[in-house]
Amino acid sequence: MTSTSTSCDPPALRLRPGAPVLGRGAGEVQLGTDDRWSLVLSGLAEAETRWLTAAATTQHSSLDRTAARYRVDDERRRAIGALLADCGFLVPAPRRTPDVLATAGGAADAPVLGALLPDGGGMVTLARRAVRRVGVSGLGRIGALLAAHLATAGVGTLVLDDDSPVQVTDLGTGTYQQTDVGRRRAVRLREALGARYPRTSWAHAWHADTMPDVVVAVCDRVIRPESFSLLMSAGIPHLPVVVGEADVTLGPFVLPGTTACTACRHRHATDVDERWPDLVDQLAELPAGPGQETVLSTTAAALAAGQVLAHLDGARPAAVGAVLEVALPEAVPRVRPVEVHPACTCTVPPPRPRRGSTTPPR
Ligand SMILES: [Zn+2]
Repeated sequence: MTSTSTSCDPPALRLRPGAPVLGRGAGEVQLGTDDRWSLVLSGLAEAETRWLTAAATTQHSSLDRTAARYRVDDERRRAIGALLADCGFLVPAPRRTPDVLATAGGAADAPVLGALLPDGGGMVTLARRAVRRVGVSGLGRIGALLAAHLATAGVGTLVLDDDSPVQVTDLGTGTYQQTDVGRRRAVRLREALGARYPRTSWAHAWHADTMPDVVVAVCDRVIRPESFSLLMSAGIPHLPVVVGEADVTLGPFVLPGTTACTACRHRHATDVDERWPDLVDQLAELPAGPGQETVLSTTAAALAAGQVLAHLDGARPAAVGAVLEVALPEAVPRVRPVEVHPACTCTVPPPRPRRGSTTPPR
């Protein structure tokens, strides 16, 4: 049998990359091992078992073409193919290597993204990331690693904000080098990562027409809610990361106007300890911290990257309405909910002007 294809033909389909095909004996094949989507096919003929097993290893060949090679009955091929499509195991076979694969990390990330989102093997998600902007403020070990993670994951533009000098304690995690000590963090990091990720755009500041989609702010010891007032008024999602004495807290991930904000967290802390505002003032006046410990730095950077990418990809980050705490020596994240504080106005819509009034409400 011969066939020709035209531009009007539906796209050829292949098995989704990253989903292993496992023989279970007695005419059974299992696709995937993740409980969220794994599938067991039973009652398969030997040729069908060999067809599916081969299809998992011939990534550039369509499922139908592989079926012909193993002489699978056409009706059975269509029925099994329809079931696999319904269960999310089929994606379009690429006609050529997509350009987005050249983005750092794309080839490694696409199979996982394709498993989580039915977007054709993760390529749509990567293409969307390539046009997003993320701001990172505070470029010690955590902020620098976070910027590298986001570039690796394919975020198109990173806005780096930190004019303080590189410290000796910033070294050792692969972002800064000994010769960088004393130079401005944002400048040196942009140079270092720019050479490593040539497809990523780098910026030093944002303006009204180039606002980031998300901002991550890494702070020593404490956050002051007023530091986030501009992001709140501009409606920009943001994630504070606070480096403590032997822990790091991330969150809440604030979706302005809809979820608990940093002021909510501040008010809750004040309810527990009425002296908290005074302590915040004192903590904020202390000199820069002694440095960011290795395990806390790497764990916090990865967690922050996960929160940002979840938001960019359309999911709800775990730190929305919560704080993620990582404390040594366990270094296992704990999730602590943060409710909207009843005295905070962060989720109260601004009043509507009265009909006929020309004066905006105060
Ligand atoms: Zn609030």
